Amino acid sequence: MQKYKLIKSMRKTLTLQVKWWELIVKAPFFTTKKTIEGFIYKHSLWIEEKLEIHKNKKKLSDEDIKNLRKEAKKYIPDRVKFIANKYWLKYNKVRITSAKTRWWSCSSRKNLNFTYRLILTPIEVIDYVIVHELAHLKEMNHSKKFWLEVEKMMSDYKVHRKWLKKEWMNID
Ligand SMILES: [Zn+2]
Repeated sequence: MQKYKLIKSMRKTLTLQVKWWELIVKAPFFTTKKTIEGFIYKHSLWIEEKLEIHKNKKKLSDEDIKNLRKEAKKYIPDRVKFIANKYWLKYNKVRITSAKTRWWSCSSRKNLNFTYRLILTPIEVIDYVIVHELAHLKEMNHSKKFWLEVEKMMSDYKVHRKWLKKEWMNID
């Protein structure tokens, strides 16, 4: 059975949503487990297809790319703002790029660039990349001091850094 996150509420219908790597089921309060799992089973092809995009197993179509860019533009700049505000960090602009090899970068002018492809990674990994870039606002290198800045914002960053290295590319 596909793992899922269940949100029960006053709604009248059952719906499925694939967000990043997670399947979310929204259901009315009194829905039984059997009904929910039957519903998931019925839609397993659709779910599989959605999850495949996010696992980067499928070649992205133009339509996929358009949607991912849209998702990235909606999510990443707001998330950067949220984290930066929390740590009193000032940056200039956030740009969503299509870079294939260079996933993200931080310029000396304090502009932060992120590729839309990031939206394909788990949500904690996106946070790690944002934190990494924000830490570069203080330290423009990968020194010990830099990693301490990262750690201050995300104590378990190593797990996500490892994930990126393993699943994507060897980037820093
Ligand atoms: Zn870096």
